[in-house]
Amino acid sequence: MKGLPDTPAARRPIPPFTQEHEDFREGVRRFVATELRPKAPEYEENEWFPNDVFLRCGELGYLGLKFEEKYGGQGGGYVADAVWTEELARSGSGGLSAGIGAHTSIAMPPIWKFGTEEQKQRYLVPGIRGEKIGALGITEPGAGSDVAGLRTRAERVDGGFVINGEKTYITNGVRADFIVTAVKTTPEGGHQGISFFVIERGEGVTSSKLEKMGWRASDTATIAFEDVYVSEDQLLGELNRGFYLIMANFQWERLLMALGAVGSMGWWLERTIEFALERKAFGRAIGHHQAIRHKLAEHAVRLEAARDLTYHSLRLFVDGQDAVREVTMAKLITQRANFEVLDACLQIHGGAGYMREYEIERAVRDARLGPIGGGTDEIMREILGKSLGL
Ligand SMILES: Cc1cc2nc3c(=O)[nH]c(=O)nc-3n(C[C@H](O)[C@H](O)[C@H](O)COP(=O)(O)OP(=O)(O)OC[C@H]3O[C@@H](n4cnc5c(N)ncnc54)[C@H](O)[C@@H]3O)c2cc1C
Repeated sequence: MKGLPDTPAARRPIPPFTQEHEDFREGVRRFVATELRPKAPEYEENEWFPNDVFLRCGELGYLGLKFEEKYGGQGGGYVADAVWTEELARSGSGGLSAGIGAHTSIAMPPIWKFGTEEQKQRYLVPGIRGEKIGALGITEPGAGSDVAGLRTRAERVDGGFVINGEKTYITNGVRADFIVTAVKTTPEGGHQGISFFVIERGEGVTSSKLEKMGWRASDTATIAFEDVYVSEDQLLGELNRGFYLIMANFQWERLLMALGAVGSMGWWLERTIEFALERKAFGRAIGHHQAIRHKLAEHAVRLEAARDLTYHSLRLFVDGQDAVREVTMAKLITQRANFEVLDACLQIHGGAGYMREYEIERAVRDARLGPIGGGTDEIMREILGKSLGL
């Protein structure tokens, strides 16, 4: 079949996507193109996107795709959420996708899966409407990949706990109304000594925004907790069982990162092919020079391989099968591929690629996060190595 790699014409419903999902995709694609993409440069320039974006996405039902209708969600399941994430990559702002994704896909799911009914009413319901914004706080200055090394601690007091410590690199860390936070409740317990609390912004909670290479529209922050009192009912899930809560959502988070990378590669290959057909050098379109034609062909193969592994993982995941190995592979292959494919797209743009106007320089900066966030490439290889019995 001839055509750009990710146009509707080149796309057929591939399970687990149905025609209904593909129709939904068209609607999301239109929304992203008309309401988000035009604003992306402004959001990047301001290093912030307004909270109204959450309200608008909430109004359209996009924040609650996988959540049940009784909480205000769409009850559409994980596949609808997958479509949304893939399409959101076409906003051209990794920071915007990250801010929305952190709220819907890493902060709210633990409340949805492990929260009490009261917690769901308090955070999930307004979260789905975009009225309250969440963040997930696991990483600390002294503990990232090695979660057991967390130092933020909760000490028991009358009726609740007092929390002290610091989190860093937290997406939505400035704007979040509630932070789903991992803390040590049994200092000597290692993985078995971690618990989660939903901490609301208030006395003792301070954030400072960090400057970063990409994802500029998102507010990544350090959050300090100083003698923050939380009542017993802010404990999320069971005491000292927080590590299982972290593990429970990792597969979904990594799968979404893979889907975002697939969306981003498709979008940029499409734009770069168009550019290569328009831009002329030495008497012909640069895309008709063999070196460029071959480079684009090679990266179209990388996209297809990455997409197939990602969709395969998604199929297993939505089918309820153990997909740890496939999701880990998909996360590993897509994040590096996204960075390299986008870097090749930048090169094909020549000097224009280095200019902000063409947006590819931003996309490359944004893509560099992939092999670090949500578990680094090295950690993915560790998981895979262990799954091979090594
Ligand atoms: C923009 C951004 C947004 C983020 N958002 C969030 C968020 O919302 N919430 C949150 O909790 N965290 C967030 N993070 C943190 C992110 O998950 C961590 O940065 C990541 O997990 C790596 O942890 P670290 O930075 O502490 O690196 P480290 O764990 O210190 O690792 C440093 C290096 O050592 C390597 N390494 C570590 N252990 C091993 C090993 N066993 N074998 C081989 N190599 C190893 C790593 O791969 C890496 O290359 C964000 C990070 C960024 C940059």
